[in-house]
Amino acid sequence: MKKLELHWQIMIGMVLGLLFGFGMAQVVWGKQFILDWIGPFGSIFVNLLKLIAVPLILASLIKGISDLKDISKFRNIGLRTIGIYIFTTVIAITIGLVLVNVIKPGEGISEETIAKLSETYANDSNVQGKIAEATNQKEGGPLRFLVDMVPDNAIAALGNNKLMLQVIFFTIFMGISMLLVGEKRSKPLKKFFDSLNDVVLKMVDLIMLAAPVAVFALLSQVVVTADDPEILQKLLSYAGVVVLGLVLMIVFYCTVVSIYTKKNPIWFLKQMSPAQLLAFSTSSSAATLPVTMERVEEHIGVDKEVSSFVLPVGATINMDGTSLYQAVAAVFIMQVLWPEGLTFSNQLYIVLTALLASIGSAAVPGAGMVMLVIVLEAIGFPPDLYPVALALIFAVDRPLDMCRTVVNVTGDATVAMVVAKSVDKLHDPKPKNWDDNYDKVK
Ligand code: ASP
Repeated sequence: MKKLELHWQIMIGMVLGLLFGFGMAQVVWGKQFILDWIGPFGSIFVNLLKLIAVPLILASLIKGISDLKDISKFRNIGLRTIGIYIFTTVIAITIGLVLVNVIKPGEGISEETIAKLSETYANDSNVQGKIAEATNQKEGGPLRFLVDMVPDNAIAALGNNKLMLQVIFFTIFMGISMLLVGEKRSKPLKKFFDSLNDVVLKMVDLIMLAAPVAVFALLSQVVVTADDPEILQKLLSYAGVVVLGLVLMIVFYCTVVSIYTKKNPIWFLKQMSPAQLLAFSTSSSAATLPVTMERVEEHIGVDKEVSSFVLPVGATINMDGTSLYQAVAAVFIMQVLWPEGLTFSNQLYIVLTALLASIGSAAVPGAGMVMLVIVLEAIGFPPDLYPVALALIFAVDRPLDMCRTVVNVTGDATVAMVVAKSVDKLHDPKPKNWDDNYDKVK
């Protein structure tokens, strides 16, 4: 019998997880049961993915740069990548702003709903935590992000998943230095990293064997910890605008893939689907990164020289879904709480601040909401209303986070394809399976 394709297995796991979660939510002890006995399997899976993220970035970026054999090629790829990332993010924000201004979801929110949401969430420790985190972020001054990018201790940077940009900086620095010492002298190091890269990609294959079970655990946990359905319903029009915008972004990517790279967009989505489904289940582009890299290189055919730089950088700075969400959420909040602030110049300002905020958002669950506070602050939103503002959108944040992370990951993959095509590094894919060598070693 033909084995079911991975994305179908994952999808079945997700549907069963949702159904199981809904079922257990009806039972008194159901929520606790899932938190104690099912959820941990999801966490183990996410830990495994995060575990290999740093070795994978290190090995693949060094392999990528040293294969280039020439620094000017690296500069060329780097500049193109950053330029295209900024372009797609501006498109995302513009789509969000147009939709939220035309559909005006904020106008349907009654005083009573505002009161209920504020009462439920304004003093919630999660909401307060996000405001505190945002205040902390902005205290470092305008060039803080540059300082933060340069590690003062390589081992500490490699030891902390949150310091992905530092790892990228260190690795690029090392890769360029390897090019400069010349092929002969850098050979042993290159061989080591090439081999590490192959081994880590095999680890991704092995971890993915557990994906269907893991997404079952992750989604059943999301369901039992979700908010009151009545509250969710009240925010349906706002959530609908965000989701519509995200769908339009996927259509945009498909158009770019079809027109520029001449590949079939349905094929593209199918190859990417395991990474997209994981992005949806984990709400983290960082945790999904190893799978995104494996799919883009082995199943789409982007050369490692391109993907090894474009994807890790993209996971940390390119967040089209998050920026679209921030634009919609900021205007929605203004429509409800601060209509006098809805000027054209403020909306233009949102384009700039949401662009910077999405670059600054960490690739972890809920990060987009922290940076939303910074967007609000930049346009002069009254600070005493921050808790109410976040309370307004908090209940639907997790489901929206799941959807925007899918777009973040798909955006990175699209840009990887576009950059690869532009430098003639998009080839026919050569997929590898976890058991390619199994017979010899079993
Ligand atoms: N969860 C998103 C990501 O990891 C970031 C966010 O929008 O909160 O890409």
